[in-house]
Amino acid sequence: MGAGSAGYEGYAGYSGNMPFYSTAFNPAAPNFNPPQQQNQSFYRSVPPSQTHALLDYSMFLQMPSNMQNPDATTTAGSRRSRSPKGTNQRDKIIQPSLESGGVPDPTPEYLALASHPPFLLAQPRNILVVVDLNGTLLHRPSRHSPTRFVERPFARSFLSYCVNTFTVAIWSSARPENVKNMCAQLLTPEDRAKVVAVWGRNNFGLTKGDYNLRVLCYKRLTALWNDPAVAASHPMAANGEKWSQVNTVLVDDSVDKARSEPFNLVQIPEFVGNAQEPGFVLPQVHDYLNECSQQSNISAYMKGQPFKANPEFSM
Ligand SMILES: [Mg+2]
Repeated sequence: MGAGSAGYEGYAGYSGNMPFYSTAFNPAAPNFNPPQQQNQSFYRSVPPSQTHALLDYSMFLQMPSNMQNPDATTTAGSRRSRSPKGTNQRDKIIQPSLESGGVPDPTPEYLALASHPPFLLAQPRNILVVVDLNGTLLHRPSRHSPTRFVERPFARSFLSYCVNTFTVAIWSSARPENVKNMCAQLLTPEDRAKVVAVWGRNNFGLTKGDYNLRVLCYKRLTALWNDPAVAASHPMAANGEKWSQVNTVLVDDSVDKARSEPFNLVQIPEFVGNAQEPGFVLPQVHDYLNECSQQSNISAYMKGQPFKANPEFSM
């Protein structure tokens, strides 16, 4: 690992660049490059106390979509209601029009597969990690300076670790030119070249009108899975293997964005620019991703043991 991992150094028990407790190569993931050097295990088992009561997403399948989020107004084009007088119109987040895809729900097939019992794999495998930018890896203090940002602690080392361990896609609702600039600051050119997709606002299927409004941008993972370049990045793509809910994690500060695949979301607290943010959030996500890479069905695992930042975590 290059200089990007330097942020982890000096923390006992947490190496940051030694991802797995096993150095055995996983024959099911030929592109996967485990570290050459064994280090002490920091593999964190999730205690049963962190198994949370689960949201019953089946309710979403019955509710009219415009009843599901009281904070966001909905629906098609001219019928879209506007924010009440006195609120800042520009800050109001609205639902995308039906022409832009509307509000997605998880499919019954998705929910059924996420309800299977999870199984631990004998070896870790390559997984698809989809990473958000604003609120997750960084904070942009001013919309007038869209490429000026404060990095979340460990953002560069976390991203470098992911890029060099898993398959990474970056997906932000920011405009593509801003996404490009932010990635250029967060990633070395070498690591940037390993990212399989850098998606921005132009990858949500939004109408021209919605593109320029503050609409809620739903990250439908199916769009990534069906993208030819992303699909081809699966280590066993030649054998017909695909990225799917069993091998994908979305890291995002917004639960809404993951509405269509809720049990693939690692929801982390929104980063609002506190450079001294406590809690080692991204290192904890790092450990959780390692756990996910050992799971046969990530959606089933995450449904039972969702990520929860531990305020007592230390390195
Ligand atoms: Mg965000």
